[in-house]
Amino acid sequence: MEWTRSETLALAQQSCTFCFGLGLRPGRAGTSTPCNCVFRAIFRACYEKFRLCVAKEKHVSRVSLEANLGQTRRSVWGLKNEEYTADFCLVSQRALSLREHRIFRFHYLLGADSVICCQKFGMDRGSFFHELYRIEQKLGRKFRELEPHALFPVDEYFNGTGRYEKSAIAVLSPYGVEDQSDEDEDGNVRPRSKKLLKFPIKKVA
Ligand SMILES: [Zn+2]
Repeated sequence: MEWTRSETLALAQQSCTFCFGLGLRPGRAGTSTPCNCVFRAIFRACYEKFRLCVAKEKHVSRVSLEANLGQTRRSVWGLKNEEYTADFCLVSQRALSLREHRIFRFHYLLGADSVICCQKFGMDRGSFFHELYRIEQKLGRKFRELEPHALFPVDEYFNGTGRYEKSAIAVLSPYGVEDQSDEDEDGNVRPRSKKLLKFPIKKVA
């Protein structure tokens, strides 16, 4: 993915001495690279959402019908809160080293404070917070760049339909057949016409 200033500007820390609140800083070969303060902001937003999902009573959990365009089934039922917490944990486990993940688990998942963690891992306070910064930066980048369903922006994860479904349909339709969408160009729902297609194009593809 390509990072743009319009995205990083809102996330950057205004007092950051590396990017001066712009969110981008000069990288190699004249290119711009996102600042670490942006990655930390992304991690904190995702962590906040994770905590909300975990704290929610289980009977409040909501089942939602999600569009699944480009696949055999047009829509699937999902438990978004549970999916988000599972993704948060699994993506972190894959992205971090064994030692980083132990620190992450103790501090962020189990809630151990800095005093307990410093004793547990034999670190001084400064090294511990440096380690946390590195973990947050690593995960912040991962959460944003994850494909096809990034954990950030959070509202896109919960309300979006994914970014690549339209292109998936284009790949699966070699005959230039009309899109099977139930909506017309103005976004109005129209009744499905059975005469439109005689064969399932996905099976043919
Ligand atoms: Zn910065």
